[in-house]
Amino acid sequence: MRLILFGPPGAGKGTQAKKITDKYMTAHISTGDMLRAAVRNGTELGILANSYMEKGELVPDGVVIGIIKDRIADKDARSGFMLDGFPRTVPQAEALSEMLNSEGKTIDAVVSIEVADEEIVNRILERQKIEGRKDDTEDVVRNRLKVYRSQTEPLKSYYAEEGVLFEVDGMGSIDDVFGRIDRVLSELNA
Ligand code: ADP
Repeated sequence: MRLILFGPPGAGKGTQAKKITDKYMTAHISTGDMLRAAVRNGTELGILANSYMEKGELVPDGVVIGIIKDRIADKDARSGFMLDGFPRTVPQAEALSEMLNSEGKTIDAVVSIEVADEEIVNRILERQKIEGRKDDTEDVVRNRLKVYRSQTEPLKSYYAEEGVLFEVDGMGSIDDVFGRIDRVLSELNA
């Protein structure tokens, strides 16, 4: 299965991604995690990425498209994967379609976790107290949300037109939300 997990920052993508991977054994590919690893390692890519991430801006398309291209070619991703945090712009979605189409593959489902803005800000500020992620301060969160609504959310219509968009209510407990996602995925798998 090839999936995209979609939703605003703080929607719980990381948490749900883990549960989906555990049950459906799909390679979990998170551009946020990959970029944070590059920042930690102080690579050239990390230094460049960090200058965008710390402001809540998107890292340039060419950079993340390159990372994804390499990663989905890995052996563990050949039979299926779940993308988390990618694509985030129309050019990224187009690049992904091209990569897959050239191998006769497509995306099976885009699961979009829906959460309202105020809930998101509250959740992320709580998370910051626990995890201390540098881009979780209130100003940066509000900017990430603005970037999401303006650049990323429009992708929903891109995938709706392809008939693969599934919207899931992201309110409630972790298990409530996973139950909703699981229903969508098990039907696809059936
Ligand atoms: P969240 O969904 O909580 O905002 P992520 O961990 O997915 O967090 O991403 C953190 C940051 O990494 C983003 O704000 C952005 O700067 C950068 N990033 C991650 N994925 C992408 C992408 N596909 N395109 C551009 N920037 C990205």
